[in-house]
Amino acid sequence: MKILGIVGTQNTGKTTLVALIASELVKRGYNVGTIKHTHHDFDLEGKDTWKHRQAGAKLVVGSGERTFFLINERMDLDKILKNIKFIKDLDYIIVEGFKFASYPKISTTEANDDYTIKNVDVFNLKDEDISSLADLVEKRTYGFISNTDCGNCGYNTCMEMAKGIVKGEISEEECKMKKFDEVELFIQDKNIPLNPFVQDILKKGILGMLKTLKTDEKGTQGKVELLIRNGPE
Ligand code: SF4
Repeated sequence: MKILGIVGTQNTGKTTLVALIASELVKRGYNVGTIKHTHHDFDLEGKDTWKHRQAGAKLVVGSGERTFFLINERMDLDKILKNIKFIKDLDYIIVEGFKFASYPKISTTEANDDYTIKNVDVFNLKDEDISSLADLVEKRTYGFISNTDCGNCGYNTCMEMAKGIVKGEISEEECKMKKFDEVELFIQDKNIPLNPFVQDILKKGILGMLKTLKTDEKGTQGKVELLIRNGPE
C-alpha cells in the first residue's frame, strides 16, 4: 500500500484533485481508498447512530446499501493507516489535508518541503496533466518505511531514502528490508521494526510451535496473528 497526501489552503481544489487522481488510479486497475481530515462530524445529531455513540458505544456500525464504521475516538493518521485492516489491503490511500504528515504530497498551493512531489494549479489542469500526475504518484510514493536504518539502499536512514523516493532518485522496491517484511511486531499499536535475523527467529520459532497444534487443513499457511496480553494496558 502506498500513501499520497493532497494538501493546500482552503478552496484551492484539494477535494477535486483527490477525486481526479483517485479516478485515474482506479482506471489503471488499482484499489484506492481515501481519508479526509475534517473538523466536521458527519454523524448527525439526533440520528440513530448518533444516539448509539452518545450512549458510549466505542464502535458504531451502520449497515445497509453501504457500511460505515464510526469509532468514537480521535485517531492520528498513523494510527488509522496502521490499524485499520481494510486500508492495508489497498494499493493506494489518498489522504486529504494532513499537511504535516511525512508522506509524499501533491500541493494545491505553493509548498516546498521534502515530501512535496509537485505543486499544481487544480483549476487549470488538463486531462494529460492528470495522467502525468498519476505517473508521478506511481513512481514517487511509498507506504510504511521500515525505520530500521540499515543503510543497505545507500542512504544512511530510512527517512533519507523516503525523501529520495519523493525526488525520484530511487523507488520503494529498492529497500533491502522490503523482502524481509514477513513478520511485523506491534507493541501498544506502535510498529516496532525488526531486522531480518529477528524476523527469521520469530517466524521459525512460532511456526514450529504451531505445527504441534490442531489447525484446519491449510495449517499455518497465509497470515498468522498472535496477540499477547501482558498485564493491564
Ligand atoms: S534499505 Fe530500507 S531499511 Fe535499509 S536504510 Fe534503506 S529504506 Fe531503510
